[in-house]
Amino acid sequence: MKKILSIDQGTTSTRCILFDEIGNVLASAQKEFTQYFPHPGWVEHDPDEILEGVKETYNLVLNQLGLKGNDIFTLGITNQRETTILWDRNSGKAVYPAIVWQSRQSLSICDRLQNLGLKESIRSKTGLELDAYFSASKIAWILENIEGIRTKAESGELAFGTIDTWLLWNLTGGKVHATDYSNASRTLLFNIYDLCWDTELLNWFNIPSSILPEVKESSTYFGTTVSGFLDEGISINGIAGDQQAALFGQGCIHSTMAKNTYGTGCFMLMNTGGIPVNSNNGLITTIAWKIGGKVCYALEGSVFVAGSAIQWLRDGLGLISHVSETEGIASQVINSNGVYFVPAFVGLGAPHWNSEARGAFFGLTRGTNRAHIVRAALESIAYQTTDIFKVMQEDANMDISILFVDGGASSNNLLMQFQCDLLQVEVIRARYTETTALGAALLAGLSAGVWSSIQACSEVGKKGKSFIPENDRIITDVLYHGWKKAVEATINYKS
Ligand code: ADP
Repeated sequence: MKKILSIDQGTTSTRCILFDEIGNVLASAQKEFTQYFPHPGWVEHDPDEILEGVKETYNLVLNQLGLKGNDIFTLGITNQRETTILWDRNSGKAVYPAIVWQSRQSLSICDRLQNLGLKESIRSKTGLELDAYFSASKIAWILENIEGIRTKAESGELAFGTIDTWLLWNLTGGKVHATDYSNASRTLLFNIYDLCWDTELLNWFNIPSSILPEVKESSTYFGTTVSGFLDEGISINGIAGDQQAALFGQGCIHSTMAKNTYGTGCFMLMNTGGIPVNSNNGLITTIAWKIGGKVCYALEGSVFVAGSAIQWLRDGLGLISHVSETEGIASQVINSNGVYFVPAFVGLGAPHWNSEARGAFFGLTRGTNRAHIVRAALESIAYQTTDIFKVMQEDANMDISILFVDGGASSNNLLMQFQCDLLQVEVIRARYTETTALGAALLAGLSAGVWSSIQACSEVGKKGKSFIPENDRIITDVLYHGWKKAVEATINYKS
């Protein structure tokens, strides 16, 4: 059987996973790397440390099975999105650390464009919010703040890339400067309707087009590795941003299919097919992938605090010792006894969009105990997901009939059953958590001929437990109504 390698370069760690043709994991390795916080709100990575992590995990995977580079049939890349690197085309050295998607250092650049009244125009070209989260203001920040860099950029000596592009450049010994449509759609420089880098956007952010990578389909031949970094001669055939790769890995290849990843936060993506759906509720429109000449779009919504609320029960409150205990503790009670927890630690995202709000508990009585609090925290993850699920259906004017789930917190059965009851649709959990890495492997394998069609790819991922509604809608609607009131009160509260 052919072996397909996936490089999953995430925000806190880098993983290499080797798959076979039926989606089994043959070997995997993971390495965490340093997070730099040079100022409050800034987050940076060392681009060279990221390369080292790829090299190390690659070698670990090969050594586990005694394989050589030429045993790998093809390679796919998936990556933390939006994180920005600029490097010198001659030396290959980054001119500044990688500015991570979470970093807020370029906020003032976004404010400047907002004050010029460009927010709506930017949204109508990119499907995104004018926010420091996306790459454009990060690039502009480096050009404005690092001495000599603008001149270099203007004379064509600099290259920009998200992490996929940085890896591709290094894997190919500087021969290939490219990205895929899913990553390009997160830069705030790419017109997702015209499918090209947008001259007006480049002008507004004052970014020269010479630094931009070529945009290629997500499942296509990107280049071949050269010796020096990994082994020589491995064909690179797939690239996608992490959430889009997870959508593909979950087999959500048709319009109306949706997945939610329950990690630190939640990311829900719904495939809307060839139609870019505009949101009236603060969701974003993004490119899921482009394959075989066809662009597939997605609607995306995220929950800022999901699994991290459970970590807070452990680290902030000392209420539990391990996150996995929450299922057992919450099962000690039949419901949260009227307790609602709104974990607005950093404000509220879609569809509320309130950055001032802060977290709150409601409905506490003398009878409230630890199990109720833990249960309310788990339920808050499901309620926030429900908020997004509902507006996603409304925006797309499409019904989602199954929610495919993955991510660390999806292992919690109580949470998944509650989610299913709230949504009143089937919830299907991926059997393995590597859906993101699998997605990249599938994209690579599709173009390299391992799988014959998108349909064939969608059948590779293994389905795990399925949840079907146990409580009827009347009961869960009452609970959800209480959540709505709790959110409203949280927003209205002013300290
Ligand atoms: P990320 O990729 O964002 O780091 P993961 O997919 O690894 O996240 O999931 C980790 C998150 O899931 C943590 O925030 C953790 O609190 C939460 N989590 C893990 N297992 C459980 C569980 N059994 N119940 C509830 N939350 C859990």
